[in-house]
Amino acid sequence: MNSEDISTINKLLSSPKKIVIAGHKNPDGDAVGSCLGLGNFLKQKGHQVQVVMPNDFPDFLKWIPETSTIINYDQNLEETKKAIDQAELIFTLDFNALNRTGDLATELEQATAEFVMIDHHQQPDDYALVTYSDVAMCSTCEMVFHFIEKLDGLSFLNKEIATQLYVGIMTDTGSFRFPATTATTHRVIADLMDAGAENSSIHQNVYDTNSPDRLKLLGVALNNMVMLPKFNTAYITISQEELNQNNFKKGDTEGFVNYALSMSGVIFAIIFIENKADDIVKISLRSKGDFSVNEFSRNHYNGGGHTNAAGGRSLKNLTDTIEEFISILPRYKKELNES
Ligand code: 5GP
Ligand code: MN
Repeated sequence: MNSEDISTINKLLSSPKKIVIAGHKNPDGDAVGSCLGLGNFLKQKGHQVQVVMPNDFPDFLKWIPETSTIINYDQNLEETKKAIDQAELIFTLDFNALNRTGDLATELEQATAEFVMIDHHQQPDDYALVTYSDVAMCSTCEMVFHFIEKLDGLSFLNKEIATQLYVGIMTDTGSFRFPATTATTHRVIADLMDAGAENSSIHQNVYDTNSPDRLKLLGVALNNMVMLPKFNTAYITISQEELNQNNFKKGDTEGFVNYALSMSGVIFAIIFIENKADDIVKISLRSKGDFSVNEFSRNHYNGGGHTNAAGGRSLKNLTDTIEEFISILPRYKKELNES
């Protein structure tokens, strides 16, 4: 964010405003944490704030302070629509293309308010008056911290904001181990702990929430894993039937793909999860090094994300999706062996 952007933001926020803060579909820790953290800060500055999400988020994020103030479009269509209609300013966090909000995109496209984007994904769309985009950042939560810092607002940090932002930094960095984790990230984390974030209990609240069903589903996923050593690749499939047999709940498959990536020699890991209700196969892609799953997903799965973590979907059935994947892979053989 350059000095011009900062002065634009300062002007926009110089009088009390009706503000909507929106996250992406299937909100993760970074989306929920960044929206709530920014929201808390803006409320303290005298603004009227409503955090909106396209749909619900997993139970392991429900303990985060102030999640009960979030409305989701899926369950509260009219209320969400009204908040967006009345908004004078809309912040979009942790995504950079309105279509990442699913059906909510229709409402956002019709909004008359100015937009401010805060996001760390690649190739941002051009819909905002201020685009604070930094693909080197580990998380949108770290960006919200820097955003508050740039507005000279660090004195507004409190235990709630510290907890909210800590969650998103922790989840998006795989607990501070992914390459985008910098010394600055750790300094931000230190400041959040000084402001009241309790690292150990936050970690437990997010990660020590396994149900027997989830662990059994993980067993199924690992059993289904296929290694393709020629391509330094491993893939996992989960069918709708397997989800049903293990009483699948939203969030249960979070992180499964990382097991495939954790194998020695694997630089590209991918999980295909059948979703009969939406008639799609949900795809999560992860990589190590230079192999860009953002590009792979943009090319083949109508998705995107980061170099080493991306998502997308296939409209083919599970069997055809896998068949297609196996037929595409040879095109990337050189890259997959050089990375
Ligand atoms: P996940 O595999 O955990 O759903 O997503 C991995 C990363 O890719 C996240 O940063 C997420 O925001 C992003 N992502 C997931 N699905 C999509 C998609 O359909 N389009 C784009 N552009 N990014 C996505
Ligand atoms: Mn993120």
